[in-house]
Amino acid sequence: MHLLPVVHDRETAFAYDCHGCGRCCRHKAIRVSPYEVARLAEVLGTTTSDVLGRWVDLDTNTLHQRDGGWCVFYDGGCSVHPGRPLACRFYPLGWNAKTDGTEAILQLSPHPESGGVYGTDGTVGAYLTSQETAPYERASWRYSVVLQRLRAALDADGPDPGEPPPIFDLDAALAEAGGPIPDGVEARVDRHLALLHEWLDAAGAPRIEALPGQDKEKQGATA
Ligand code: SF4
Repeated sequence: MHLLPVVHDRETAFAYDCHGCGRCCRHKAIRVSPYEVARLAEVLGTTTSDVLGRWVDLDTNTLHQRDGGWCVFYDGGCSVHPGRPLACRFYPLGWNAKTDGTEAILQLSPHPESGGVYGTDGTVGAYLTSQETAPYERASWRYSVVLQRLRAALDADGPDPGEPPPIFDLDAALAEAGGPIPDGVEARVDRHLALLHEWLDAAGAPRIEALPGQDKEKQGATA
């Protein structure tokens, strides 16, 4: 996929009408985060361990592709549509969330035979609202803070609290920790992040209350 030199902000005039041709579901590396794995598990009625074991390339954290390059979840349409990953929700836009908390929204080059129709009678922000990207974006920022703290812990050579909780396998992390497992993805993510931050505290990683470009409310408290 090539990026066109088009950078949007959320107020940019934009609209996109997907006609379901499916061409955007082929030959794409769809990378998934812990949150996206949990959302897929919810839609598929299984655990994050099962999703990771059956449908994710663990070397690249991308969804498997079937013969012909089709996404493993493409079946004449997206079979996991309510839990589809963030990249699929942003398409035909791309999201570059930077480590300083700022973002760039890029327009991706469409498949030459794409059936999608572009317009200007909306905004980028309205399009993303229609795709329900907000909880995915928020989770992405929150796990980004964990990864930054993890890097800091590794660099700091501080106390050794043992192995961290599994980062990508949320259900395994909660099972290892014991105690009641909360209902719902958002509550389980809150618990998972709390476990990760407890471990990072024990490892002596400095706290990051919010990424500089993100307000704490939108990002979600790390404490
Ligand atoms: S998860 Fe769904 S929308 Fe995303 S590439 Fe796969 S089939 Fe297409």
